[in-house]
Amino acid sequence: MLEVVKTLSSSEEIKAQVPLRESLKAIKLNRDAQMKAILDGSDKRKALIIGPCSADNADAVCDYVSRLAKVADKVKDKLFIVPRIYTNKPRTKGEGYKGILHNPDPHNSRTDIQAGIVALRQMHLRAIAESGLSAADEMLYPDNHVYLDDMLTYVAIGARSTEDQQHRLVASGIDLPAGFKNPMNGSVRVTINSIYAAHIPNEFKYRQYQVRTQGNPYAHMILRGGVDVYNNNFPNYHYEDIMGAIELYEQSKLVNPAIIIDTNHSNSGKKYLEQIRIAKEVFGNMKWNGMIMKYVKGLLIESYIEDGAQSPSGNVYGQSVTDSCIGWDKTERLIYDLANMI
Ligand code: PEP
Ligand code: MN
Repeated sequence: MLEVVKTLSSSEEIKAQVPLRESLKAIKLNRDAQMKAILDGSDKRKALIIGPCSADNADAVCDYVSRLAKVADKVKDKLFIVPRIYTNKPRTKGEGYKGILHNPDPHNSRTDIQAGIVALRQMHLRAIAESGLSAADEMLYPDNHVYLDDMLTYVAIGARSTEDQQHRLVASGIDLPAGFKNPMNGSVRVTINSIYAAHIPNEFKYRQYQVRTQGNPYAHMILRGGVDVYNNNFPNYHYEDIMGAIELYEQSKLVNPAIIIDTNHSNSGKKYLEQIRIAKEVFGNMKWNGMIMKYVKGLLIESYIEDGAQSPSGNVYGQSVTDSCIGWDKTERLIYDLANMI
């Protein structure tokens, strides 16, 4: 049985309730163009998509993003920084904290989607207004993309969603860089197939409409490591892994081939402090091999104000309530170190 609990506001209503000012829209469009230029190779800088695993608390997230903006400005000739403001979380077993969309108050497990949609839009809006940085979010529920499409600069499709038809189709109609994570089993072939599906025009059902898309030439790959049948993590950020992914990408003849390396998740085996070493290893490999320099366009890093993670009911300001993150001091040092490696 599926019971209607509440009818929710349309995206038009929510956008009218929490509007994006023209000046902020201009910032976002300018940043979209920079991210696209990095992906198509016309801008040689590297991108860092960086921030907490989940954005559960607007005050801490906006504080973090404002700190990031100061660092971003100092390294802007070498790195382009996109904060992660992730408002929905996929759960391996379907239970637990599902992000601000479901739980606008992480201390209250009651689901309130109407309040969640407003809260997540307000948080993204406040972050751009305070920092000048438009953000990345995961498109966990393709129907919901229209609540945020005017604010984001980057969309990720998660490991559990990459093989899903609706995600691929909707990504083909998004006028933004869309990063497909490799699926949990690590298949680079499947990831390439998803990218192909997002590159071509499609016609399908979206919400209550039949829609047509033109294809998204900025759909690309994120390598996040994988999990074997015994639930052991295996990484795919090492030299040979990246070269293998490049080989398949070359065969595919897709336009704008681009790889982002996720330094956490199955790449770190959730040993979050290893992200620092992994990030530097990838940057070192870029210098060693021109193909890696050409294909790898940046990193996805899980970082917040405090090291580690706490349970969703925890009260530590700026500490993740989902995957463990590196804290602010380490983050700042890492960004400067990476900029110096270029
Ligand atoms: C994430 O980026 O926090 C995430 C859930 O990633 P993945 O889909 O790779 O597990
Ligand atoms: Mn995570």
